[in-house]
Amino acid sequence: MRHDDNLTADRPTFVTHLECSMTGERYEADRLHGLSAVGRPLLVRYDLAAAARALTPEVLAGRPADLWRYREILPVRRTENIVSLGEIATPIVDLPAVARAAGASNLWVKDEGRLPTGSFKARGLVMAIAMARELGVTTIAMPTNGNAGAAAAAYASRVGIEAVIFCPADTPEINVREIAAQGARVYRVNGLIDDCGKLVGQGAKARGWFDLSTLKEPYRIEGKKTMGLELAEQFGWELPDAIFYPTGGGTGLIGMWKAFDEMEALGWIGSKRPRMYAVQAEGCAPMVRAWQQGERHATRWEDAHTVAAGIRVPQAVGDFLILDAVRQSNGAALAVSDAAILQAVDDAARTDGLLLCPEGGATLAAWRNALAEGLVAPDDKVLLFNCATGLKYPMADQSRTLDRNGPIDFASL
Ligand SMILES: *Cc1c(COP(=O)(O)O)cnc(C)c1O
Repeated sequence: MRHDDNLTADRPTFVTHLECSMTGERYEADRLHGLSAVGRPLLVRYDLAAAARALTPEVLAGRPADLWRYREILPVRRTENIVSLGEIATPIVDLPAVARAAGASNLWVKDEGRLPTGSFKARGLVMAIAMARELGVTTIAMPTNGNAGAAAAAYASRVGIEAVIFCPADTPEINVREIAAQGARVYRVNGLIDDCGKLVGQGAKARGWFDLSTLKEPYRIEGKKTMGLELAEQFGWELPDAIFYPTGGGTGLIGMWKAFDEMEALGWIGSKRPRMYAVQAEGCAPMVRAWQQGERHATRWEDAHTVAAGIRVPQAVGDFLILDAVRQSNGAALAVSDAAILQAVDDAARTDGLLLCPEGGATLAAWRNALAEGLVAPDDKVLLFNCATGLKYPMADQSRTLDRNGPIDFASL
C-alpha cells in the first residue's frame, strides 16, 4: 500500500514499519495487525533521523499542549483519521507535605486523571481507535477492569465504530455504567480480566471483531508513550531520577521506555534514564514475583485481589518488556498492601489536597517503602503516576449532619 499523500500532509508521520518486540521480525505498516507470529506485542518503528529534522523541541514549543503535537512520531497517516476529545498535556503536581513528612523533597505526581474519561487509558485508546478507523475496522472488542473500556467506548462512539466490552463481574459500578453511557455494549462476566480476554478472542474469530486488548494491537503503546515525551519536556528535557508506575498490563511503562529511546535518537535527551519502579498490589504481583526470581516471563497470579482494580492483571503478554525496562534501568518491581494504598490516598488528599486513585496511591505507598529501604534517596527527583481521577472511586463517608433548627455551638464546628 502506498501513502504518497503522507508526503504532502501538513504534519506527516515518519512510520516505517512494525517489529516483533521479541524476535525483531519486521511487519508492514498500514495493515491491521494483532500480536506477532510468536504471540508477542508489535512495536511501531519510525525514521527517527528524518523525524528529527521535522520535529524539534523548538517546533514542539510552538504547538498546542496536547497529545497530537507529537504527530510525526505517532502512527496515524492521514490527518482526517485523528480523533480527539481534548487529550491535554497533564500537569505535574508536587506533594510537598507528604514528602516533608517522609523527610524527603522533590516528590511529583503526573496527574493523568485530567484526561478525557478520567484516566490515562484515553492516551492509549485515542491512538488505537484512530488507527482502527484508518485501517477500516467497524467493530472493536476488549476486556477491561473499567477505565480502558470507558475510553474505548468514548472514542469508538465518536468515530462510529461499534464497541463490545467485557468486564469482570466485580468491576466498579461507575465504570460499567460509564462504558454503557458512552455507547458500548458492555457485559459483566463471572471471571477475571484474562477470562474476559478469552471471550474477546472467541468473538474475534466468530464475528470478526478487532481485538483491542492491552498490547494485542500495536497502537495503545504509541499513545501511552506520549507520557514519556510529555514529562521530558515538562522537566526541561532532563528525566527524573525515578518513576513509580502502577503496573497492570504495563502499557505505560513500556511506552515510556520506548519514548526515552526515541527521544535520545531524536537528540532531545541524553542517555540518562530514570530508575523504573513497577508497582503492584500484594494481592496481584506477578511482575514482582518474576523480578525477584530473576525470570524474564511471569506466570499467572492465582486468586488476584486488590482495591486497585486497574492493576489487578494476573498475566501480561508484555511481561518481558516490563521486566527488561525495570532491570535495564536499575529499578525494581515492588508490591504494596491494600492498607498502605488506602493510607497513601488518604494522606495525599488530606495534607496536599490531591485526590489520587487507588493505583496512584499504590505508587505513593511504594515510594514510601523504597525510601525507607534506601532504594531512593530523600532528594531524588521522583515522579509518581496518578492514572485516573480519584473521583471515580468510592470514598469513605466522613460527613456530619447539622440541625439548623436547634442551637448551634459554632465554636465546636
Ligand atoms: C489501566 C490502569 C493501570 C495500569 O496501566 P497499564 O499501563 O495497563 O499497566 C493503572 N491504573 C489505572 C487507574 C488504570 O486504569
